[in-house]
Amino acid sequence: MRPLSNFDGMKCYSLEAFQNLIDQLPKNHNTIPIAHNEGLSSLILSKDRHYMITFDDGLAEQANNCLEFLIEKRILNIYFIPTQPYSDGLTLPVHLAHYLLSKEDPEELISIIKEKLEIIIDQSLIESSNNRYKYGSVSEKLFKYIVNYYLEDKKSNTLINYMVSELYGDTFSNKYSQSLYMKPKALCELSSKTLIGYHSHSHKDYSRMTNMQVDKDIQQSKKVFQNLNLDSIYHAYPYGTIDSCPLRLDDLLRNNGIKYAFSTIRDYAIKGTDHLRIPRYDANDFIFRSN
Ligand SMILES: [Zn+2]
Repeated sequence: MRPLSNFDGMKCYSLEAFQNLIDQLPKNHNTIPIAHNEGLSSLILSKDRHYMITFDDGLAEQANNCLEFLIEKRILNIYFIPTQPYSDGLTLPVHLAHYLLSKEDPEELISIIKEKLEIIIDQSLIESSNNRYKYGSVSEKLFKYIVNYYLEDKKSNTLINYMVSELYGDTFSNKYSQSLYMKPKALCELSSKTLIGYHSHSHKDYSRMTNMQVDKDIQQSKKVFQNLNLDSIYHAYPYGTIDSCPLRLDDLLRNNGIKYAFSTIRDYAIKGTDHLRIPRYDANDFIFRSN
């Protein structure tokens, strides 16, 4: 989330388009007070339509550019934080992949992958990447699909780290994380002004992890928050598709104090909505709709 005048780096959503989008939403001035006084469930049950803006991935620019604006507009906003960068000081592989895509030609990235690994890129792989991602060119979707889904985690991380070190040097991941994510102090300040939630520790897809692995991942997140005197009852599943929030994890989430968990399934939350699978729309959906 950045002004158009500063589009360098990881691809982002323009602040101008975002502010425009917020101004187009039907006015409802009760959202923040209702959510703060009566909690999110009353907001879901409310017969009036309310809007809540959610930000995933804990990027510094999200809060820097949007928090004050949204508070001023009295729109509830919540920031979901992946916690691993606070433990290892590195950039998450998913964000290194985004960075690579913003700087390099996706076709070039695919040819590096073909050189490094024995991958056959056939029609079924292209189709899978198309089903998974809505936006981007064929090569861009393919690259994201291969690193986020097709390869097992370790292989994918090794590949991304190799590409990033080759292209930008060994210390890039550490340096980039310093500017990309909110600093611990900023995170604490943010939580005093609005809501924050978990977005897992390592930003891996929960559908590809055992219950024990997910439990460990959430515990790691909680520990990072605890060290900063923070806590939350909110969570957003990495990737958030229907597969990424399996029912088998419900008890585990509840036992870890999670009361509301957000997916990326496109829909409105209404009476009867599963509180551990709250649907959301992507801001890009609205941009494309209004064009
Ligand atoms: Zn995410």
